[in-house]
Amino acid sequence: MADIIDGKAFAARLRGEIAQQVAALKAEQGIIPGLAVVLVGEDPASTVYVGSKAKQTVEVGMHSYEHKLPAETGQAELLELIDRLNADAAVNGILVQLPLPAHIDETAVIGAIDPAKDVDGFHIINSGKLAVGQQALVPCTPLGCSMLLKDHLGELSGKSAVVIGRSNIVGKPMALLLLQESCTVTIAHSRTKDLPAVCREADIVVAAVGRPEMVKGDWIKPGATVIDVGINRIERDGKNRLVGDVDFASASAVAGAITPVPGGVGPMTIACLLHNTLTATRQQLGL
Ligand code: NAD
Repeated sequence: MADIIDGKAFAARLRGEIAQQVAALKAEQGIIPGLAVVLVGEDPASTVYVGSKAKQTVEVGMHSYEHKLPAETGQAELLELIDRLNADAAVNGILVQLPLPAHIDETAVIGAIDPAKDVDGFHIINSGKLAVGQQALVPCTPLGCSMLLKDHLGELSGKSAVVIGRSNIVGKPMALLLLQESCTVTIAHSRTKDLPAVCREADIVVAAVGRPEMVKGDWIKPGATVIDVGINRIERDGKNRLVGDVDFASASAVAGAITPVPGGVGPMTIACLLHNTLTATRQQLGL
């Protein structure tokens, strides 16, 4: 039976360390980091997520600025708000909750954020820096996965890693982070041939697909480490359940270690957002 990688506990520790560093920054520099979160519309999942972000931001001692705009907000108005936040010295990090309503061009909005305040790490300057190995603000979910892997395995150098999924938000930056750790990285996706065989080669499998319980136990090399990014809501036995992209029951019988859903990667995302906000603040202060 695999070790369970407890992302909830790791995220709580990380938030504790961030809170200490925020307190030190306040004592030494008189600065309190500020995170602005912009939500357009009332998508229920996004509303819950933005609420959790604001709550945890305040809990680590940072200022949280919430901007909730109606769904019909025009792109020009949203870009004006981003300009104001870019210019506001009290705001060290800016996050625009995705997805945006269909009439707004996400690329234009992300591109308008000052890269130094882009705590989601989605701006092309930050993705470019990550790609060439320069210091960057790194997307929160893959950053969290990388922290869990390093904590559990120590050295990642030389390990073979398969990332399933090639999104700009998770799959691609995850692959780049593993490459930075000197893993031999394969990026698998919807057109990959014989995905089970590709996975069976891997010491590390990161699943970021969005398909409930797709990765089965017989896809996993015995002893491999499995990171399940997927968050899928399904109905089973008449109840709503949250499951990952990995079939936990069969995979945990073969893997050496595995993240559960919930309680694995999920809690790391907001903790890494706070980590990025602290990093951005320090960089803006030249520290
Ligand atoms: P996405 O839809 O943008 O990308 C999915 C990727 O999976 C695509 O690159 C696609 O090629 C690949 N794919 C689709 N079907 C496939 C198949 N049959 N075989 C192999 N590859 C296939 O999704 P995303 O934004 O990268 O998110 C992936 C999952 O991670 C979702 O379940 C999402 O909810 C979850 N997620 C979790 C967090 C978190 O905080 N834990 C954060 C972001 C996303």
